[in-house]
Amino acid sequence: MSGELLAWLRTAGVKVDDRLALRSDETGLTVFASHAIALHDILVTIPKSCVLSRRTSSLSSTPVKLEQSSESHQAAVTLALHLLHEQCMAEQSRFHGYLQSMPKDAVPLATFEPNEWSQGTDVEHHLHERSLSLEQLDTLFRDQILPILRDASLTIRPTCKLFRRAYSLVASRAFHIDQYHGLAMVPMADVFNHSAESQVVMQSDHIVCLQCGALFECEHDELPTDPDVISQDHATDTVDMIATSPIAAGQEIFNSYAPRLSNAQLYVGYGFTLDINPHDRVTWPTPRNLLPDEASSSRALALWRSVQTAEIQSAVAGLDLVHDEDTSALFLDSDARMSASLWLLLACHAQTADQTSSQDLSLLSREPGRLASICDKVYQARLASMHNGGLSVEQLLALPEAQITHHAFQIALNERLLLQAWHAEWGTQRHTDGCTE
Ligand SMILES: [Zn+2]
Repeated sequence: MSGELLAWLRTAGVKVDDRLALRSDETGLTVFASHAIALHDILVTIPKSCVLSRRTSSLSSTPVKLEQSSESHQAAVTLALHLLHEQCMAEQSRFHGYLQSMPKDAVPLATFEPNEWSQGTDVEHHLHERSLSLEQLDTLFRDQILPILRDASLTIRPTCKLFRRAYSLVASRAFHIDQYHGLAMVPMADVFNHSAESQVVMQSDHIVCLQCGALFECEHDELPTDPDVISQDHATDTVDMIATSPIAAGQEIFNSYAPRLSNAQLYVGYGFTLDINPHDRVTWPTPRNLLPDEASSSRALALWRSVQTAEIQSAVAGLDLVHDEDTSALFLDSDARMSASLWLLLACHAQTADQTSSQDLSLLSREPGRLASICDKVYQARLASMHNGGLSVEQLLALPEAQITHHAFQIALNERLLLQAWHAEWGTQRHTDGCTE
């Protein structure tokens, strides 16, 4: 598999540093360093002319307009169509050698394996935001993709199964490389596995001509340019993989698909999880999710929205139990610390539930016990939204192995443990500061 890919890369003009070695394992290809690599070394140089995008595929001259609810879905399904078309051309496609190196089956993204353990967890929240469902993909294939491909002379017949696979490859392996190509399959760049601690980064000039992709002067510039300059730079514009740290011989080389991805995000976006992930979280997508049935929540939300970022920061300053780096989102971090915004929302709930108290939120930071009862309600509401939320951790771990080894179960279990640790911490506060219910 790696020999065929390397041969294709050479023909296509992709430069791969001799110190990189490709190995095959059960998940596909991986990249290792055969010799030591220094910081800032350029390891792979990929001409943009050989990425697979809607601009470079065999369908690029066919006008394609797929109706989708969001721009990111639109870009992903459009590229999936182009990828499927190339795949169905088999040896006729100029990307054939590259396509042969890709996984034969669909990447096991969360959307392909609906699982009851995802209920009420971050997997469910991220699925809503980022992924199309199986039903949506199948409808899209039948109503929009197939009519486009029906008249093309293709070696392989396009099927729903092949479209799902193409979509999964785009969702998990495509990169946004610039304004002209947009989302693209980038040969060799997509072979690096993900780690939170990566050793390479992709670099690409994003600002290019929207009409022809030229990096420097071109015929579409408003100011007249020297005709000799035109066209040369277009051919040399590349996507580069560059070492971000020294790499020892024998070490696997990882890319980071995006900063700070939690296991729920990895599972939804890429179909895998990490054994230990410092970026795991329990999130609430909107403040309404926190206490869906709370009658007083409108007043609490109004108060929460009226507080400025600076006030949040000063109110939580010095509170060890609050994560203060990201003040905008509602979450528990992997140490079961509340985000500042979540702390504030609980404080606003506590404040509006207690008419007699002062409106000074900073006082609450000195009386954490007043948050205990609202914390308990939030905890119970989150558990109630989850599959088997009434079972204890011991009962969960006693379930059949086939269930507990599943990514969705593992993520649900981790959320449960974080919620419990958080609830225990804030639930005991009421006893230490003399607060009575
Ligand atoms: Zn141009």
